[in-house]
Amino acid sequence: MRKTALFALLLAAVLLLAGRSEASVVESAYGPTIYTWSDAVAKAGDIIPDTAVVRLPDGSLTTVPTGTWTPDGDAEAWSPGLAGRLDALLGELVKAGLDPETLRGLEVYALPAYTLSLPGHERDPESPRVAVGVHREGVVVLAGLWVNADRTFLHELGHHLADRVLGTAGYWWPGGTGEKAALRREYLALRGYPQDRPLNGISQAALPWGERAGEWFAEDFAYWAAWRVTGKRPDANSYLAGPGPPDERVLAWFDRTFFGKMR
Ligand SMILES: [Zn+2]
Repeated sequence: MRKTALFALLLAAVLLLAGRSEASVVESAYGPTIYTWSDAVAKAGDIIPDTAVVRLPDGSLTTVPTGTWTPDGDAEAWSPGLAGRLDALLGELVKAGLDPETLRGLEVYALPAYTLSLPGHERDPESPRVAVGVHREGVVVLAGLWVNADRTFLHELGHHLADRVLGTAGYWWPGGTGEKAALRREYLALRGYPQDRPLNGISQAALPWGERAGEWFAEDFAYWAAWRVTGKRPDANSYLAGPGPPDERVLAWFDRTFFGKMR
């Protein structure tokens, strides 16, 4: 009996230490700071959970619509080591040629929810009220418990890099002069983006999600980056925006633009 109690105490101590050893804030060697679970909640502002993960009486975890965040221990059990996985993705991209300067100062908030609710979007029927990822200037926000948070991360990272490298902050895609404008023009032409669609930020944001140039770009980036990190082409069904998965020419453009190859 005493042995069992001692064992239970030791087990509890080990679990507690194991839970603590997974840092919830990771200062990535590649530039960004990655906040997970309650540390991300403290940073993310007005976003609230739409669906969260809860522990049932039998000990299993499941998703439920709720207004409360998943506790840290349950979030870590549902998606173990997410901060480390996201950091490793950044490491693979930098190793392959991505300039770490483009990642400097980026903050990533991986929230303890399965889906997120975005306050203030209720009045706009074209704008989604529920999201698995959100991009703000210099910040990537994720539903960290979403079934494929890694892919969502790559999509939102695509928005961040479009802002940094192509100057598209605020869905801003018009032409102009300079290297960033040239890259925007190149990408839109390569992708055959319809020329009758206005490219200023307000008009772009008013389009349905899958028709925005920035979403085409972010989906292309996620597809390309997943291919470059894993060495395998992602499932075409995972591609969500208007034009369908990128072809060889588009993938080669991403290589040139972000890995500096053949430039
Ligand atoms: Zn997006």
